[in-house]
Amino acid sequence: MTGAGEGDTSFKCGFVAIVGQPNVGKSTLLNKLIGQKISITSKRPQTTRNRVIGVKTDDRVQIIYIDTPGLHQHSGKILNKYINRAAINSLIGVDIILFMVTAKGWSGADDKVLQKIETIGVPVILAINKIDKLAQPDMLLPQIETANNKAVTFTQIIPVSASTGEGVDELAKALTAMLPDQPLMYPADQVTDRGNRFMAAELIREQVFRQIGEEVPYSVAVQLESFKREGRMLRISAVIWVEKPGQKAILIGKQGKRLKSLGTRAREEMEKLFSQKVFLSLWVKVRENWRDNERALNNLGFGNE
Ligand code: GDP
Ligand code: MG
Repeated sequence: MTGAGEGDTSFKCGFVAIVGQPNVGKSTLLNKLIGQKISITSKRPQTTRNRVIGVKTDDRVQIIYIDTPGLHQHSGKILNKYINRAAINSLIGVDIILFMVTAKGWSGADDKVLQKIETIGVPVILAINKIDKLAQPDMLLPQIETANNKAVTFTQIIPVSASTGEGVDELAKALTAMLPDQPLMYPADQVTDRGNRFMAAELIREQVFRQIGEEVPYSVAVQLESFKREGRMLRISAVIWVEKPGQKAILIGKQGKRLKSLGTRAREEMEKLFSQKVFLSLWVKVRENWRDNERALNNLGFGNE
């Protein structure tokens, strides 16, 4: 057995898929569980587009978390079909499903996601997130009762706050207890399956979601052009693709102010992640309707997960 502590005979390892409707806090929870930013987050639904894996290893257990894009309501665009497919595919072969709702109450959209996972036949743990927003803790009780009356029997129901970290250790313990005995699958020091280029592009997209209003972020894709080490500095350049000239103007802003502010925040995040000085250049370009163009999507790395 590799990696397990000295003299260890049992090591647990397995996959946990984090599933729930958009905006319940899946990516925030993943980052908290791993203790590092792996998946980008924003106030807007459908920020996550790709499956992202976060790996947490200690001397007795390795938990491999899969952050799924929220299952989209169909909008017809090919991009959304790809995203739905990635979300469903990522559930195949997992050991546990971590189903997330928020403390605000159970909605019809939550039921739809639940319907999709109940056929998979894997144990489901329910995390009720955003409990920091509750005025009083006993407001959770009716929601736990609602959960207990669902067709799926939850192995456990655990209230958490992905933001403050409340309940997150307890959740990790509950997940660990359910994992099979087997050796680790990823090297103990690996925290994600995504490379530096993907992470850099995502940090740019995160700032677009956080700083640009309305529908524009949904029309944005980020493509890394270069990622080069130069002495003690990283030189990164990227294209921000949009679908219309008007969107380009919005992203750039008056006298380039918007783009500059995006770039600054993204660069700061990159410097944190890579522990290195970063020189970042950004270009905004238009590619009409890329979200519905198979070839453009494949060029941007969609459709092959
Ligand atoms: P996802 O779409 O399910 O991945 O959701 P995100 O992780 O992107 O989170 C959506 C929004 O909810 C972000 O603005 C988060 O900061 C916020 N959020 C996530 N978890 C919590 C929580 O426990 N408490 C509060 N107050 N906000 C949260
Ligand atoms: Mg997300």
